[in-house]
Amino acid sequence: MLISNCLAGLADLGFRIEDVIEQEHDAALGNGGLGRLAACFLDSLASLNYPAWGYGLRYRYGIFKQEIIDGYQVEVPDYWLDFNPWEFPRHDVTVDIQFFGHVRKSTDENGRTVAHWEGGEIVKAVAYDVPIPGYATPSTNNLRLWSSTAASGEFDFQKFNNGDYESSVADQQRAETISAVLYPNDNLERGKELRLKQQYFWVAASLYDIVRRFKKSKRPWKEFPEQVAIQLNDTHPTLAVVELQRILLDLEGLEWDEAWNIVTNTFGYTNHTVLPEALEKWSVPLIQHLLPRHLQIIYDINLYFLQSVERRFPEERDLLGRVSIIEESQPKMVRMAHLAIVGSHKVNGVAELHSDLIKTTIFKDFVTIFGPDKFTNVTNGITPRRWLHQANPRLSELISSKTGGKDFLTDLNELNKIELYVKDKAFRKEWADIKLANKERLAKHIKASAGVTVDPTALFDVQVKRIHEYKRQQLNIFGVIHRYLTLKAMSPEERKKQQPRVSIFGGKAAPGYWMAKQIIHLINSVGKVVNNDEDIGDLLKVVFLEDYNVSKAEIIIPASDISEHISTAGTEASGTSNMKFVLNGGLIIGTCDGANIEITREIGENNIFLFGNLAEDVEDLRHAHTYGTHEIDTDLNRVFQEIEKGTFGSTQDFAALISAVRDHGDYYLVSDDFHSYIETQALVDDAYRNQEEWITKCITSVARMGFFSSDRCINEYAEGIWNIEPLRVEKEEGA
Ligand SMILES: *Cc1c(COP(=O)(O)O)cnc(C)c1O
Repeated sequence: MLISNCLAGLADLGFRIEDVIEQEHDAALGNGGLGRLAACFLDSLASLNYPAWGYGLRYRYGIFKQEIIDGYQVEVPDYWLDFNPWEFPRHDVTVDIQFFGHVRKSTDENGRTVAHWEGGEIVKAVAYDVPIPGYATPSTNNLRLWSSTAASGEFDFQKFNNGDYESSVADQQRAETISAVLYPNDNLERGKELRLKQQYFWVAASLYDIVRRFKKSKRPWKEFPEQVAIQLNDTHPTLAVVELQRILLDLEGLEWDEAWNIVTNTFGYTNHTVLPEALEKWSVPLIQHLLPRHLQIIYDINLYFLQSVERRFPEERDLLGRVSIIEESQPKMVRMAHLAIVGSHKVNGVAELHSDLIKTTIFKDFVTIFGPDKFTNVTNGITPRRWLHQANPRLSELISSKTGGKDFLTDLNELNKIELYVKDKAFRKEWADIKLANKERLAKHIKASAGVTVDPTALFDVQVKRIHEYKRQQLNIFGVIHRYLTLKAMSPEERKKQQPRVSIFGGKAAPGYWMAKQIIHLINSVGKVVNNDEDIGDLLKVVFLEDYNVSKAEIIIPASDISEHISTAGTEASGTSNMKFVLNGGLIIGTCDGANIEITREIGENNIFLFGNLAEDVEDLRHAHTYGTHEIDTDLNRVFQEIEKGTFGSTQDFAALISAVRDHGDYYLVSDDFHSYIETQALVDDAYRNQEEWITKCITSVARMGFFSSDRCINEYAEGIWNIEPLRVEKEEGA
């Protein structure tokens, strides 16, 4: 009803809905999987009627727009706020945020020492609200994004009145810098002062908001954790633990123990990575300078924590140093993950393997100290509203026709009903038609954006995600070169028997991640040669799609036959695009890593192409590379020699990609997994040639994907970590 009104109204105005929809920008708010997970969670929270808020920063310049020029990534700013009809500025909702200054101690009438954080500078946080409507419910939640601006205190006025216009404008600009740019690193931390400022600005404004709302309830402080649960999405907001302790202690006058009880019962911490370069640490002098009172509280938290550890484990001399929140380096560093664990009542990983790994590796000592019950798993999920219904409307419609309506969009286990139709000829025909139509749509996009003509009936092989050595796009492109060399060596008759393939890549490299940028350059350089080789024709095409984002994902994912989730075992915490691809009727080639393992458990091992070494073997292999002899796989060596011959252009450009494997210990096990990868890709070709079998695998897999709804995931957080229940809401009429 509403949709048809909308279409008619637009037509009257002379517009097509497709053109209007294209005007909408992606929110440039996040960095790959972490931010997208938060978006799926917001959708589920609202759709399940949980009263929840999302908090973040309103970046003026969010994640950059990627252009590919001469095969290289070029970053350009994305002016996403220039047209954003979804936000509501709330100039009535502001918070003054303090930085720098000093701490003065005084004694109150009861002889208690009271800390006063004084001086420094004030920056104003202004709320911008983005409504998050639930699906098929009247519930709408709120995503509150903070924007920074100069505090309009007397200070500014004085400057202004004194005619110091320049300096008062400079103050304004300096304040606005805080929410100006999103740091584009994915799984890498660099201890920049401005980033720490962003983190504190964000959590201080959000906590002020949360505390203000709690105080309106007039409930006693000890009931705070019953009304409020705060989930730390990775360690980036961990200063919130310290800030809440400061509010309770310094501003509300609670005793340390009472305050700390409230804090730890309020927070939960989700770990998203075991990569050492991604674990956040902030230098003590930096925190001392920016947040002097917070540093004192961090030291006190650490003191009480270490005292309790020492009492319980008096013999274990090294334990204290290992678990300390402060790393005794030069300069000293605050380990944010340790602070998050100590300050939370639950810690979770995001897939079973990952949750097991954190308990046995990086957080092992904390399991000894707190016991195993503090550590739990909540396997990630994705929202079926966006990743099935919106991205793949025809498939959604087909499923709806067989499952008896749209219930599967709110209860994804309903998908299992389509397994009954796996042998139904008409159903299978429609299924195949939909996939082909989605591939035709992507083929058009490829032509328009990369200028490459691809055959929609070829096998579409897709790897789209942030470019990172641990995700191993280099393994993929080396495999593509191997395929090219194999085809070149064949007679024309032999070639005719081969399965045509289109290798599709997409993803942004962090601007400072030189190696990731070399990978992008190699992919484009290989494409240039392969796509113009007349011996090869449609047997192999290599495409890099620029500026991968959510809107592009909605076009790419439904068109995939096989997608690549090939991280070095033990490095990808969960992955969520693996779930998106299978839900859209594509199969996976992948390692035994992250959620791939649970996807296999759910859909069956006949429906996934697993390869490579296991997480438990990685350490030994790395050790052998460094201290034993390191033999490079023969086929991979042939690939290296071809690159070094200059077949794909300047050999100098790609030398580092080769020497990482050959000379620098092959940390990501590219050579160890290469043979297994190539063999498994051959199995994929064979399987795809049998289209009937292939479609059976696809339908069966989709039918068994119910577990990976973010609704299941959010219900697990609600029950196991937040202790909250959904509100009872009347279902919307006609939904
Ligand atoms: C889902 C998604 C990701 C995460 O992909 P992984 O393969 O799980 O790393 C990253 N970027 C976008 C735009 C996504 O939609």
